[in-house]
Amino acid sequence: MKTLQHITILGSTGSIGTSTLDVVARHPDRFQIFALTAYRQADVLFEQCVRFKPKYAVLLEDGAVARLRERVREAGLSVEVLAGVQALEQVCTAAGVDAVMAAIVGAAGLRPTLAAARAGKKILLANKETLVMAGNVFMDAVRASGSVLLPIDSEHNAIFQALPRGYDGNMQTHGVRRILLTASGGPFRDTPLSELHNVTPEQACAHPNWVMGRKISVDSASMMNKGLEVIEAHWLFNAAADDIQVVVHPQSVIHSLVEYVDGSVLAQLGNPDMRTPIAYGLAYPERIASGVAPLDLFKIASMDFVAPDFARFPCLALAYHALRAAGTAPAILNAANEVAVAAFLNKQIGFLAIPQVIETVLNQLPVGAVRDLDDVLAADAEARSAASAQLG
Ligand code: NAD
Ligand code: MG
Repeated sequence: MKTLQHITILGSTGSIGTSTLDVVARHPDRFQIFALTAYRQADVLFEQCVRFKPKYAVLLEDGAVARLRERVREAGLSVEVLAGVQALEQVCTAAGVDAVMAAIVGAAGLRPTLAAARAGKKILLANKETLVMAGNVFMDAVRASGSVLLPIDSEHNAIFQALPRGYDGNMQTHGVRRILLTASGGPFRDTPLSELHNVTPEQACAHPNWVMGRKISVDSASMMNKGLEVIEAHWLFNAAADDIQVVVHPQSVIHSLVEYVDGSVLAQLGNPDMRTPIAYGLAYPERIASGVAPLDLFKIASMDFVAPDFARFPCLALAYHALRAAGTAPAILNAANEVAVAAFLNKQIGFLAIPQVIETVLNQLPVGAVRDLDDVLAADAEARSAASAQLG
């Protein structure tokens, strides 16, 4: 049965945000945009407002807010333009919102996504950093409010689809033996190790299979993205580090797999296009058209699988280490990574310095317990300053 869903998109101008709007536009009878948000892309957000007529638009930067207000007024649109982090929370928790697409990049996504969870909204979670930083706080909030949580990260969406319906976090009672998390290996999978020290941000962002924002593209090149996804899978599916196996699969056709105790292995396949998991999340438990081309198995012809190379990709090992260390360790890992990736994108440090910065910060800072959001935010701030200090 079709009921109209009112949707807030956090990060609507980004890669996931625009793909979400692409799917939404195909189903005007199902979805209506309640709010759109971005950091400072006033002109792109204005065009989206013209097309999708949200009630609210939120920006974070003052100059951009003024520009959008001006353009909205000139065009005579009835969109209310709001500013700041509190406004992000407001458009997630408002009574008129049914679902929130959490597609801000990085730690900035945590507060509004958590607010949506506390308000019991349906959450389409792309912002994996929320779970990496504050997994227990966030999952507690989801359980307490009864939020429906739908993973949008393609791997986790695949796992969600391959797990039994009604899976409650107990692998044993559901006969699940392992989770197999696929990884493309990124643009540097086969680059000679001797060349990795002078790769450029442009090379790192040229992903062979997926078109994504710059931060996650660098994370994919270092395989920190897969490390963050291991931690994300831990929280989403209540799987221990030892029960999550990374499988390098360069074609990115199998988006992940679930292995059962009887020997069955269930996978979800498709073309590498985020509109598939987005459409799944938007219409769940129904299926709707996403605009993604049908998978042509004859064209793919063959698929490869290899074990991850932890020596080539130290970030992956660091993420497993942080997951096992628990407490604030994943938040420290995430913050140090964000600082290091930004420095790499600004050409302040080389590619191989990214894991060095993170490892030093992880060794330097004590790991504490996570009781509430403040513990997470304190660890995040401390790790950012420790990482910045290393950049000189
Ligand atoms: P992106 O850089 O393309 O877009 C980020 C969006 O967040 C933009 O709208 C930007 O304006 C907004 N934003 C950035 N900084 C902000 C801040 N400080 N405050 C408020 N808003 C801010 O990123 P993306 O590739 O779309 O990724 C978004 C999230 O989805 C990330 O957490 C990423 O890991 C996850 N994800 C992305 C993909 C993908 O294919 N792009 C796949 C899986 C998961
Ligand atoms: Mg992914």
